[in-house]
Amino acid sequence: ELAKADLVVVGSGFFGLTVAERVASQLGKRVVVLDRRDHLGGNAYSEREPETGIEVHRYGAHLFHTSNKRVWDYANEFTAFTGYRHTVWSVFAGRVYPMPVNLGTISAYFGRVLTPDEARELIADEAKEIDSANAANLEEKAISLIGRSLYEAFIRGYTKKQWQTDPTELPAEVITRLPVRYTYDNRYFNDAYEGLPVDGYTAWLSRMADHPNIEVRLNTDFFEVRDRIPAGTPIVYTGPLDRYFGHSEGELGWRTLDFVQEVLPVGNFQGTPVMNYADEDVPYTRIHEFKHFHPERESPDDRTVIVREYSRAAGPGDEPYYPINTPEDRRKLLAYRELAAREADVLFGGRLGTYQYLDMHMAIGSALSLVDNRLTPYFTEGAPLKAGLAD
Ligand code: FAD
Ligand code: UDP
Repeated sequence: ELAKADLVVVGSGFFGLTVAERVASQLGKRVVVLDRRDHLGGNAYSEREPETGIEVHRYGAHLFHTSNKRVWDYANEFTAFTGYRHTVWSVFAGRVYPMPVNLGTISAYFGRVLTPDEARELIADEAKEIDSANAANLEEKAISLIGRSLYEAFIRGYTKKQWQTDPTELPAEVITRLPVRYTYDNRYFNDAYEGLPVDGYTAWLSRMADHPNIEVRLNTDFFEVRDRIPAGTPIVYTGPLDRYFGHSEGELGWRTLDFVQEVLPVGNFQGTPVMNYADEDVPYTRIHEFKHFHPERESPDDRTVIVREYSRAAGPGDEPYYPINTPEDRRKLLAYRELAAREADVLFGGRLGTYQYLDMHMAIGSALSLVDNRLTPYFTEGAPLKAGLAD
């Protein structure tokens, strides 16, 4: 019942569920979670492909990794994790190389056996045309880090496909997500903790919502029911920020992905979970083969599920996946943040609510902070919901 809720949470992704779970279990308050989709969990939702039983992440492959001990301990209250360590390979011009760029990639690309020092020297020489500190865009940054040859092989084509924007027009930060290593370590993530939920993302997310003080209402759009929420009820809103304000400052730009799924009559299609395709003339960016995320599970030995990923700008009705963040977007974002600060009963959070690319551990971490800094003082001391709030 909306009328009886102490808190309304809009969106049942990791941000919304973390807020709901803490407020319900630690503060003993009644929380109603609304989601317009027909399932909970937001973009981390997964389901078994019916023909093969293989778990497929419906909104793109999700790998959990964090160096935040608090987030890791919190996640472990709801799920155990496998020992999965993410690795990625990349196809370029008919050969396969390990990613991110490491000693294996450099040695294979240049066709030489290199010591770490020799590789470092070779890359420094290749990269000397640009000073990293002055790199003004993604292309310059990448060249300054790995040199022109490796940039043109592994980054330029992939990035053009992924962003449909020339790398000279993209911010340098996009590429600093990827490490460069002068060892044969080809783990994709550097974090202290990593793994996949033993019985799947949906089981994990469902356990977070499984509390007598939490009611989840699916197929419910906040904007269709908000009239029924009594004035003064606090709201945590994790839907799109621009939509909340009726797009009054213009639409924020997003990229979307198309996932093309196939069940193939082979036991093993590519021998690894994720294969990137760096060549510009291959239209997709990568192929996921989901059975390899869980080698510990039983799966059919004569069938497999693959998903090809294609990237493009989001139009009306598309799922917003990655904030594009042009200077124009940032200008609009500032205007929306000012409007958001004036909504006395509403806290904005999560990927869509703050127009930020957040990994799962970041969404969980920032939700825990919101509970600490805003909702706990509000419910336990009667503090104003947004006292001194800068956002
Ligand atoms: P979401 O999960 O998007 O949840 C928001 C929810 O709000 C949705 O369920 C939506 O239906 C609901 N909603 C919106 N508007 C309304 C409304 N008006 N009324 C009711 N409900 C509404 N993170 C990682 O850590 N590792 C990865 O490997 C990884 N891979 C990713 C791959 C892709 C393709 C994408 C897009 C993201 C990936 N992420 C990954 C990020 C991860 O998905 C997010 O960190 C996480 O989903 C954020 O949770 P959230 O609650 O902020 O948002
Ligand atoms: N990237 C690339 N080649 C690759 C992998 C990544 O050029 O083989 C670049 C690309 O610009 C991408 C960025 O590095 O947008 C970040 O990569 P990441 O794998 O973190 O992207 P995500 O998984 O979030 O799509």
